[in-house]
Formats: sequence, C-alpha cells, structure tokens
Amino acid sequence: MAAMSGEPILQLKNVCRSYHEADRELTILKDANFTLMRGEMVALVAPSGAGKSTLLHTAGLLEKPDSGDVILGKTSCAQLDDDERTAMRRNDLGFVYQFHHLLPEFTALENVMVPQMLRGLSSKVASQRAQNLLDYMRIGPRSSHRPSELSGGEQQRVAIARAVANAPLVLFADEPTGNLDPSTSSYVFQALEALVRQSGLSALIATHNHDLARRMDRCVTLKDGKIVDLDLRKPAA
Ligand code: ADP
Repeated sequence: MAAMSGEPILQLKNVCRSYHEADRELTILKDANFTLMRGEMVALVAPSGAGKSTLLHTAGLLEKPDSGDVILGKTSCAQLDDDERTAMRRNDLGFVYQFHHLLPEFTALENVMVPQMLRGLSSKVASQRAQNLLDYMRIGPRSSHRPSELSGGEQQRVAIARAVANAPLVLFADEPTGNLDPSTSSYVFQALEALVRQSGLSALIATHNHDLARRMDRCVTLKDGKIVDLDLRKPAA
C-alpha cells in the first residue's frame, strides 16, 4: 500500500451549494468541510439524491460553490477564473464516471493519449505512457480496439487509465463500477485500487457498494449538508 503522508491534497472549507428551483431552495452542502490526504482513498457513501455528484463536481472544479473554498494542493481555487479552473481540471484532476464517456471514434490507446497531448506531451511519449497504463490495467492487448469493440468492464478500465494519464493530484470517481455486474465490478475496482495504491494517488470515490467502500481507508457520507465520517462496520441503527 502506498504510504499516506501528512499532507492535505484536497480541502473543502465551509463549502455551501444550493440549487434554486421555482418554488424552493434545495441545500446540498452547508458549511461542509473535508480533507483528503496525499495517498488516501476515501469512499463517499450516501443514498441516491443525497448530493454525491454535487460534492464531486464541486470538489473537482466542475461546479462553483456558492461560498467557501476548495484548496487543491496549495492552490486556493475560490478566486480562479474559468480558464484557470479548466487548466487545473485538465492537468491536476482525473474523473471516472458510471458510464465510460470514451471517444467512440478513437482506439483505447488514443483515448488515453488525448488528455496527455492536450497537456502538451508528444504523441510518442503519450503513446508509451498510454500503453503502460493499459498494460497495468491488463487490457494492453486490446489497446487498438475502439470502445464499441470492448466489454463494459474493459471500457471502464480504459476510462480509469485515461483519468490517471496525467498523474492527477486527485482522482474523482462517481459510481465507477455502478453499471457493471458484481464480478466485473469487483475486478475493475481491484484494478482501480491497485493503480491508485501503486501510484500514490489520492482518490474520492462515490459508491453504493459497501463491500467496495470498506476496502478504502475511510468512508464519509453527507448529513445535513456536512461531510461526516461513516463507520460501515457498525450495523445501521
Ligand atoms: P447523488 O449524486 O447523491 O444522486 P446529486 O448531487 O446528483 O445526488 O443531486 C442531489 C440533489 O440535487 C437531487 O435532489 C437532485 O435532484 C438535485 N440537483 C442536482 N443537480 C441539480 C441542478 N442542476 N438543479 C437543480 N437540482 C439539482
């Protein structure tokens, strides 16, 4: 297991986020605080509709909080403009979703090369790293196939390789195995976990699956707009 260091890599400070609809205000985060340490894997476990995606999108700079700050590494993101947030997302953050969102017209290898080339790497370097990542995810021999020629589990392993292609500070995953059958889900999750542990990445992973969540360093949930620790070893009260 990669050693966790005492260094915070992601911090949410008094983050508030509400949605305004015609006749009501829906408060999802209310002065929420959270710290993810370097090398730490944390599961976000909460019922559907509780706000997991909102939290991941806010922490991952896809949505702006109404107030409060998201600090990535040493960078306070509250004052960043849209271009700076986009650059930070592209270079320092990785995302995996329930559905793979791979580019259909590109091969698996090219899908993993794209984010690296957007960052300015040569195609030679990007291709080598992409192949290494696909090999690590045990999908190397399928690297010249397009997503439509891959199984669901294989597509998701390519999506994971793509998400870590730029060696992000933080990997965010939103139900990454939610669309897979139980045995494929377990296999894909194992590959994700091994990759995160081996590379010393930090990860925040939303999942409904308590067995997968228990394998992480710590579990949190959303309660009254706050991010609170969750002990999955205790039976529900
Ligand atoms: P989860 O990921 O836990 O299922 P979400 O973060 O997707 O939860 O949504 C939390 C709540 O916020 C839900 O009730 C959802 O309907 C609502 N919501 C999410 N996005 C928006 C939006 N853009 N506008 C209004 N309400 C939203």
